[in-house]
Formats: sequence, structure tokens, C-alpha cells
Amino acid sequence: MSNGLKKRIVKEIKVDLDKCIGCRACEMACSGFHAVPKFSSTNPARSRIRVIIEDRKDVYVPVRAGDYAQAECNCRNSYVINGKEYSECSFCTVSCSTRDLFKDPDSGLPLKCDMCADDPTLPEPMCVQVCCCDALTYVEREEEGENEVGPRGEIEVGLESLVNRFGIDKVVDLVSQLSKTK
Ligand code: SF4
Ligand code: SF4
Ligand code: SF4
Repeated sequence: MSNGLKKRIVKEIKVDLDKCIGCRACEMACSGFHAVPKFSSTNPARSRIRVIIEDRKDVYVPVRAGDYAQAECNCRNSYVINGKEYSECSFCTVSCSTRDLFKDPDSGLPLKCDMCADDPTLPEPMCVQVCCCDALTYVEREEEGENEVGPRGEIEVGLESLVNRFGIDKVVDLVSQLSKTK
């Protein structure tokens, strides 16, 4: 009998650190897929997945870009892997004001993993497709739950970060100028 809750698809990328060899193919594929036009360029700095590499300790950690945050957080994790201590922000997924990671190098706008949303839908996200070692695997599962508000789009997140940096008046002025020239 139905309990009235809707079904939703949860998409997940599992990361097996033991299998990652730090080849960075995932970074290239992600940046190429999101280039305009698609695959016209590759640049790891534009990738929504970055691989934190510590060669001497054989540690490779792929981290996907999460949400944008206007300010740094005041509650952090620190990690010790193979005896090496990593800084508090090392494996954080947030595009935040303290660092350049997960920001477009030209515009400074935040980058966020969108699971390669496309039309038609990809069978698997690009980073998973190119990972030769099965360090990344894609999983979809159905869960019961209330309908959630979908993830905020790139335009909304980008506009919010511009407003935070330059102020609403400046952004509105610029949009109004652009609308006259287009
Ligand atoms: S990068 Fe992450 S952990 Fe570091 S201050 Fe920003 S939000 Fe906090
Ligand atoms: S799922 Fe797509 S957008 Fe997200 S990190 Fe992988 S390639 Fe980039
Ligand atoms: S493509 Fe796979 S093996 Fe290569 S760095 Fe990315 S996650 Fe690691």
C-alpha cells in the first residue's frame, strides 16, 4: 500500500580511493564537457572535479565541487592519511571565499558539479566514463521522500556570487546595459 510519499532518484558517484591513480583524466573530461562549445577546450582549473594528489604518500583523492558559500565556515574537519596531516580545507567540496578552487579562472564564478546534466541524459557522468580504474562508479537508486526543490541552476548561483562581490545595484546596472546591446 502506498504511504503517499513520492519516489525520487538519488544519483551518486562512489569514490574508491584505493583504485585512484591520480591520472586526472576526470578533470580533463569534466572541463571539456562543460566547455562552450562542448569539448572545444580542456582546462583542469575549470573542472568540477579536482584530484588532491600527494605523490610521495601515494594518496589521490578526487573531490567534486559542491555548493557555493559566501563566507568561510567556522567548523572544519582535519584529516590524517598515512601519517600525513592535511589542512582543514583540503577535501572540502565548497566553492568558498577562502580559495580559488572550484571557481572559474576567468570570471571567478563558482563551479558546481551538475552530474553532467544534459539532453539527452548521459548514461553515466563524464568523469565516471573516462575513469580507467573504476575509482569512480555511478549509482542511481530510488528513495521515498517529499519532493525537494531541485538544485539551483548555474545562472542563479553565479548571479548570487556576483551580487555578493559587487552589490546588487552594480549587477542590475550591468544587466540593464547588456540588455540594450543584445
Ligand atoms: S574551503 Fe570548505 S572547509 Fe575551508 S573554509 Fe571554505 S567552506 Fe570551510
Ligand atoms: S559528474 Fe560531471 S559535472 Fe560532476 S564532476 Fe563528474 S564530469 Fe564534472
Ligand atoms: S580518472 Fe579515475 S583514476 Fe584518474 S584521477 Fe580521476 S578518479 Fe583517479
